[in-house]
Amino acid sequence: MSAPMMIADGKAIELRAGGTDLSERRRSGVSRGSLIDIAPTPDMTGIDCSANGAARIGALVTIDRIANDPRIAAAYPGLAAAAGGLATPQIRRVATIGGNLAQHSRCWYYRNPHTACLKKHGSICSARGGNHLYGVIFDLGPCVAPHPSTMAAALLAYDARIDTDRRADLTIAQLLGDGANGAVDNALEPGETITRVELPPPTLGERALYKRAISRASAEWPLVEIVARAVVADGSLRLLRLAAGGVAPVPLRLAAAEAAAQGAAATGATIARVVEQSTAGAKPLAMTAYKLDLLKGLVRDLMERLLA
Ligand SMILES: Cc1cc2nc3c(=O)[nH]c(=O)nc-3n(C[C@H](O)[C@H](O)[C@H](O)COP(=O)(O)OP(=O)(O)OC[C@H]3O[C@@H](n4cnc5c(N)ncnc54)[C@H](O)[C@@H]3O)c2cc1C
Repeated sequence: MSAPMMIADGKAIELRAGGTDLSERRRSGVSRGSLIDIAPTPDMTGIDCSANGAARIGALVTIDRIANDPRIAAAYPGLAAAAGGLATPQIRRVATIGGNLAQHSRCWYYRNPHTACLKKHGSICSARGGNHLYGVIFDLGPCVAPHPSTMAAALLAYDARIDTDRRADLTIAQLLGDGANGAVDNALEPGETITRVELPPPTLGERALYKRAISRASAEWPLVEIVARAVVADGSLRLLRLAAGGVAPVPLRLAAAEAAAQGAAATGATIARVVEQSTAGAKPLAMTAYKLDLLKGLVRDLMERLLA
């Protein structure tokens, strides 16, 4: 079963924060062991912003607080917009950032207690040979479900670091892995608890936006989502960050697209090159090629608005 989980007296024990992901798995029987509620220490429930703009967010801070904190909105607008755009108002009021990062796969084969899945000790990914309509387009490992965490994509765009009760300063890539291990949703050790998210100060003059393509108006995980940050100075792109969710088993930086923009003039021709490069390295599955167009469309829209 996916980490984080510990074993005591031969039984699996799972941590609980807001419980919004866990409760559905409890109802279906996919999660069956004992639960431990994470103790709300002051360090884990606050948002602290330092004079230089860096921020520290406790793991038990709710998504709603992140979406509505004016300091976060000013310094990290892409993060605030991503938080405000996920799930539903009711879920955002309860769900925590730690639980969001550690939430389990949304794949219907994983969530169904009767179907085989690598994340349930199975030997095959049932989605790969079955219905993978919402699957990846960057096929990085045996599991073809995209990582479900919107906040992970946003934190990747902002170079956030994660502290746990055992390790400090983890990048999002260290927290979630590279997608090669289809048996887990993250690289946390059993029982390891996320305690804090650390955000570096924003870059001078940057703008940021978030956009998702979704199969219904709300209350759904996105098909594709992007957090984009840009700095334009003297008519040139000095910084471009594009972090995508919904496309790979882990959130991905669109490195080729970012490279195409580095130092380039802030023009339509550059936007076209960035859009073209945004799917470099993609390898869609039989049913997911439509996501290539969604990805390109989101990148185009965000680039046009950031460079306007
Ligand atoms: C209709 C709907 C739409 C949704 N849409 C989106 C979406 O678009 N994007 C998105 O990102 N999410 C979406 N979600 C999922 C939702 O955001 C998550 O359920 C929520 O963020 C989980 O947080 P929680 O505090 O409730 O976690 P819990 O349910 O308490 O825990 C989730 C998992 O994380 C582990 N965990 C919790 N806290 C910690 C910690 N501090 N350290 C280590 N492990 C921990 C738990 O053991 C458990 O395995 C949606 C949910 C619903 C129901």
